[in-house]
Amino acid sequence: MKRIYLDNAATTQCHPDVVLAMQPYFAEKYGNPSSLHFFGQETRAAVESAREKLAKLIGALPEEIVFTSGGTEADNFAIHGVLAANSKKGNHIITSAIEHHAILEPCEYLKKNGYDVTILPVDKFGLVDPQDVAKAITDKTVLVSIMHANNEMGTIEPIAEIAKITKEKGVYLHTDAVQTVGEIEVNVKEMGVDLLSLSGHKFYGPKGVGALYIRKGTRIAPFIRGGAQERNRRASTENVPGIVGMGVAAELSMKELPTRREHTEKLQKKLIKGIFDNIPEVILNGHPEKRLAKNVNISFRYIEGESILLNLDMEGVAASTGSACSSGTLEPSHVLLAIGLSHEISHGSIRFSIGQYNSDEEIDYLLDILPKIIQKLRSMSPLYEKS
Ligand code: PLP
Repeated sequence: MKRIYLDNAATTQCHPDVVLAMQPYFAEKYGNPSSLHFFGQETRAAVESAREKLAKLIGALPEEIVFTSGGTEADNFAIHGVLAANSKKGNHIITSAIEHHAILEPCEYLKKNGYDVTILPVDKFGLVDPQDVAKAITDKTVLVSIMHANNEMGTIEPIAEIAKITKEKGVYLHTDAVQTVGEIEVNVKEMGVDLLSLSGHKFYGPKGVGALYIRKGTRIAPFIRGGAQERNRRASTENVPGIVGMGVAAELSMKELPTRREHTEKLQKKLIKGIFDNIPEVILNGHPEKRLAKNVNISFRYIEGESILLNLDMEGVAASTGSACSSGTLEPSHVLLAIGLSHEISHGSIRFSIGQYNSDEEIDYLLDILPKIIQKLRSMSPLYEKS
């Protein structure tokens, strides 16, 4: 059976050049980058070269990049690190209702431990209003953390506008750019952010490696202690193969980004049009224009997303309901609830996420089977009968 992967927001396939570049760092070039001997210096050079590539991709200086174990750690590091280092200034953090759990859960933890947390609402497209950020800032606010683009519905947030406000008020701004690095242009200077999280496996690099950009001069405490690696900001021996792979993925992204985007945009338009032309009672979630080209999030009324997923899986198509981390729970997506969808409609939502390895023929195949699946499920749905 054909297998079609349309879950590229959950993770991507490693680019073949990434795999090739990583291979020597498992068995041949295995020195510890902190060692002074040849073996160590060889891997140190590889780590620093990857840092330069990654920094170039996002318009940062190499010394502003700290490697982490992924996006989740980068997010936790930004939040806990900045609040811990700036406790004299205050104990208030502002974030939004549609953030990834890697932001929301650290914020909940802080709240339970006496910090003040403001969670801003979003509009029906998932956009944060920069004026809401301005109004929420107090003299105790230390950090604002708003994601660059949402992982479930692809809406791109007005980060540069928010940055003007945080800069004027003297508050740090962090953005979770895990879904945007390698997808759209991400330039930390143009965006005006102080901290930015990214993750290798979302842009054709390996899993288990990511980074936090920390603007020079930002006050931040280490999150993982116990060694002097990463200029005392993140202890533990570096994941050398992972870092090398992510460096190559960053280099490829710089080169391939325009063609990648053109390709995914074309498939996205085709998929959205095909769904709307052939299936009644569907809703496109997220902003119609300010969205990532890879994301197609659709609510199919009267049926359960989980049953659609299972039926798609039986036909060889891999998609997702909301984020991979929350699928498997019966809780509706906090993101879809935040844009005002009812529990019933959020339960009937599917995220297709397109990548550079998807083809026109794959979208044709999906558009052939999907209307039949929806029709079959609706014919069995008591909710559809009542409508
Ligand atoms: N932030 C966002 C927006 C994400 O989409 C993800 C992954 O799904 C993460 C953070 C977590 O990244 P990682 O899997 O590298 O820990």
